[in-house]
Amino acid sequence: MFVDSHAHLEMSQFDADRDAMLARADDAGIETVIAIGSGTGPGSLDCAIQLASREKAGEPRIYATVGIHPHEARLATDADFDKLNTLARHPKVIAWGEIGLDYFYDHSPREVQRAVFLKQLELARTARLPVVIHCRPSADSQNAWDECLRILAEQWAPSGLGGVLHCFTGMMEHARRALGMGFMISFAGNVIFPKAQNIRDAARELPLDRIFIETDSPFLAPVPHRGKRNEPAFVREVARQIGELRGVAAEEVAFHTSQNVYRFFHLPPASNPGAPIPAQSGRAAR
Ligand SMILES: [Zn+2]
Ligand SMILES: [Zn+2]
Repeated sequence: MFVDSHAHLEMSQFDADRDAMLARADDAGIETVIAIGSGTGPGSLDCAIQLASREKAGEPRIYATVGIHPHEARLATDADFDKLNTLARHPKVIAWGEIGLDYFYDHSPREVQRAVFLKQLELARTARLPVVIHCRPSADSQNAWDECLRILAEQWAPSGLGGVLHCFTGMMEHARRALGMGFMISFAGNVIFPKAQNIRDAARELPLDRIFIETDSPFLAPVPHRGKRNEPAFVREVARQIGELRGVAAEEVAFHTSQNVYRFFHLPPASNPGAPIPAQSGRAAR
């Protein structure tokens, strides 16, 4: 059984076959998907909640996040923050994100990215939600990592809420600093892209109880699907690749990464959906 810890299920790339795509995920043994709610920015902030409300038989369970991606930071208004604050209370919302810094594309000015990141950390702390972090430095630089981890250390670590470094592309040292702040590290299909030796090192060496796997669908399709649209069923391939790096079976990676997601977010195991949520769960306890 697999958990895809990060997918953009609402994107238009899935408009033609969303039902079939989710049915394929179920057939492939994907029992839970975390739908990332940053959408295309303000105006679509409830997109993941809508998907998480489907609860259709023959599809994976879907949980949601809410947040404004650094790409769209320049569009964020106070009204959007108010809206997020309300949406964050929805029972299917388990995290705030993806938020962070993207100095590779610079779709929003960096000072605006930082301000919107800080504002959302503050809102997430109030909502008692862990955060899903997107961090991408400029080419041949670690600038966004240094800054993002400094902000998290100063502004977030004291909350004790932790979070996820999604689609990890940093160095081992970055991963270790994040682990020290209660973060989980999530790996996507780029783990075997030729230039990604640092990602492979992290995927091989980090403790198995601290990692997630994800697709980041519809982006970043893993080999052998590279260049095509990605979808949650392909998270199996990420498990297989990490298993190969670590010298363990894909099933073992699948089992641990699924348990890690359920434990971190206090979710009941999908194979027993009626089971009560563990006692220490709920926002008050996080
Ligand atoms: Zn991202
Ligand atoms: Zn994403």
